[in-house]
Parts: sequence; C-alpha cells; structure tokens
Amino acid sequence: GCTAEGIAGALRAAAEVIAEHRVELIELDRAIGDADHGENMHRGFTAIVSALDTAAADNPGALLKLAATTLISKVGGAAGPLYGTGFLRAATALGTASEVDSVAVAAALRAALEGVQARGKAVAGDKTMVDALIPAVSAAEAGADADIATMLEAAASAASGGAQSTVDMVARKGRASYLGERSAGHLDPGARSSALILGAFAKAAS
Ligand code: ADP
Ligand code: MG
Ligand code: MG
Repeated sequence: GCTAEGIAGALRAAAEVIAEHRVELIELDRAIGDADHGENMHRGFTAIVSALDTAAADNPGALLKLAATTLISKVGGAAGPLYGTGFLRAATALGTASEVDSVAVAAALRAALEGVQARGKAVAGDKTMVDALIPAVSAAEAGADADIATMLEAAASAASGGAQSTVDMVARKGRASYLGERSAGHLDPGARSSALILGAFAKAAS
C-alpha cells in the first residue's frame, strides 16, 4: 500500500517533472493561452515541496490536503484552483487512513476528476485537463486489482493518450476557447501537465 512517505515522494517527483517541463508548458500555453501555465505549475509545485519540508502531516490524505491548499493559495489562473480542488477531493476520499491500497487510490483519482469537473464545468472534448483525466481514471479503475505502481502506469499512459487527443479538439473552456476554431492543432497545456503529474506519480510508485 501507499503511506504518507509514498505520497510525499510522489509529490516531490511531480515537482521535479514540472520543473523539467516548465518551458514546454509555457510554450504550449503561448500557442492557445497566455503563456503562463509552466510558470503557474512550477510556482505551485515548488511551494508544495517547501510545505512538505516543514509538514507535520502523517497520512496520505493530510499530505494531499496540504498540496491542495498550497495550490489554491499560491497559483492564480484557472489551473491552480482546478488542481487544488482535485487534490482536495482526492484528500477527502482517502480520509485519515495511514496506508491506502489500489482501490482507494483509484477512488481518489475519480474524486479528483469529479472535483475538477464540479469546479470548471468542463466535459469530455472541451480540450482541457479533463480530457487527460477521464481516460486516466477509467484505466485506474480497470486496473485497481493490480498493485499501485502498475495501476498508476496504466493511468499515466491513458492520460498521455488523452492529452494527445486534445490536439484535434476545438477549445470550449478556458482562455483557449477565445480562439474558437484556431485553438485546433495544438496540445492543451493543462492536459499535458495532468499527464506529466500522473507519469511522475507512477514512476515514484514503482
Ligand atoms: P490561465 O488559463 O488562467 O492562464 P493556466 O494557463 O495555468 O491558467 O491553465 C490553463 C489550463 O487550465 C488549460 O490548458 C486547461 O487544461 C485548464 N482549464 C482551463 N479552464 C478549465 C475548465 N473550465 N475546466 C478544466 N480545465 C480547465
Ligand atoms: Mg495560462
Ligand atoms: Mg494566466
């Protein structure tokens, strides 16, 4: 199962991957947004690492809640509150258990997706992070009888495919929607960051 230590490792791994892809996320957002997604995510995950360094949180849910409140308070723009809500719902789903299994992690991912959708009202095909998260959650649920690493690898791979599928979409939510048809032909930055984060979680779990 996954303990607080595992979640802290996963969040640190995500921060590293976001730092490595900061410029890529900026360039994706430059094409169909305002070129700040890489900076927003980097600021948020750097703050999460700082919070982890001084955290007293001792269970998986408490650490995800710390990540959520950090993102909500440190990241402006659309993505901060959306990811913050996702992490907060995931934290609530895990409760105060000191160790969580694949079924609980899959349920937390489902709760995160539902939180993002409750907050942002995006559905499949709107060209947002939701298009990476929907297939990721389906894959996690389908793989919930495997160990957490195997399940997260399937989820991350599905998220990458989902992110790639946003290229052909016309944006109907967020800044990219202002471009209308001209938003097609570009990868959605938030879908890309979702796939990157899930990829980091999977690698940290293995
Ligand atoms: P902003 O658009 O405010 O500059 P970011 O650039 O950090 O914020 O984040 C943009 C990303 O947020 C988009 O690529 C998209 O994936 C996601 N996003 C925007 N609006 C929504 C929404 N309503 N629901 C889900 N995701 C959204
Ligand atoms: Mg932006
Ligand atoms: Mg912005």
